[in-house]
Amino acid sequence: MIAAFDIPVTKVDRSRLSDTPLENLPFGRYFTDHMLEAEYADGEWKSVQIRPYQALSLEPSLAALHYGQAIFEGIKAYRDAEGNAFIFRPFDNFRRFNTSAARMNMPEVPEEIFMEGMRKLIALDKNWIPAIKDHSLYIRPFMFATDSMLGVRPSATYKFLIILSPTGPYFAAPMKILVEEHYTRAAPGGVGFAKNAGNYGGSMLAVTEAQKQGYDQVLWTDAFEHKWLQEVGMMNVFFIINGVAVTPSLEEGTILHGVTRDSVMVVLKEMGLPVEERRINIDELLAAYGKGQLQEVFGTGTAAVIAMVKELKYKEFQMTFNVDNSPIAKAVKERLNAIREGKAEDLHQWMWKV
Ligand code: PMP
Repeated sequence: MIAAFDIPVTKVDRSRLSDTPLENLPFGRYFTDHMLEAEYADGEWKSVQIRPYQALSLEPSLAALHYGQAIFEGIKAYRDAEGNAFIFRPFDNFRRFNTSAARMNMPEVPEEIFMEGMRKLIALDKNWIPAIKDHSLYIRPFMFATDSMLGVRPSATYKFLIILSPTGPYFAAPMKILVEEHYTRAAPGGVGFAKNAGNYGGSMLAVTEAQKQGYDQVLWTDAFEHKWLQEVGMMNVFFIINGVAVTPSLEEGTILHGVTRDSVMVVLKEMGLPVEERRINIDELLAAYGKGQLQEVFGTGTAAVIAMVKELKYKEFQMTFNVDNSPIAKAVKERLNAIREGKAEDLHQWMWKV
């Protein structure tokens, strides 16, 4: 059992904070002074430490670079007016991280290292959390295989790190979406529910091709019929149909169990809206649109919270939405932001004080 106070800390001689303007930072470009690092070898986690953010020295034969045992998480921390730091639902990300680890045949990271390490790291770099509206600190825990060995087998050694990146407001412009009919993100029995690096590498070509046709992102469909809807870009997807919120169900293992998705479902129910987690296909969507019942379509994720869809294209069919009249998405976003900013009661203890 590692307690946070047992994690050794090597501090920077001089903080880079005063050289980094925290206003309107681009996403993921700047990193705080320190990082957490741990090594897995001989069946156990060891050498847990916090040290200055720096380059790693790695072998060209590093297993993760060849066979892709690499997973990550994305979490956000906020600072209130009194200077306290809060993290939004980090235990959910911790659990999802270890679900991803298990699927990728990697060792689980114990709670003492993931949670206490994150708490101690953020406490140390707390001044990097911009105390500016809509700004936050993006937390990136990740793990990768470190065996220097080209045999295809699970690595025996791993590195786990947490790095922190101050980030500005993420303006989620309404999206033009192409329903993807050729490429597949995830199939039953595959790794769609895991947050492994390869899922992102494998999805980029579809998005690049959609962008060449003038779209922002794709709506992923199932591998067999290309009809059953999964996720929109790197977000979970919600459809408001005739006053009911519908989001694809998770049981096939093709969809990432989004923390925002879960939070949005809770808030929608509190607003009195029926929520259905179930299979939904493009024919149902087209029929609802034809009857004037498809009211709102939006994606949910840590980065944007909610991103509206303004256009959906499937074969020759084009569906357009008046995003300026999206009362449900707007209300959910305002409610979630109010909880994050400490302006609404945190009924479910989603904000974890550092
Ligand atoms: N789906 C995918 C593929 C994602 O990468 C993300 C972002 N982590 C999400 C959905 C949304 O998940 P969350 O709400 O936990 O950020």
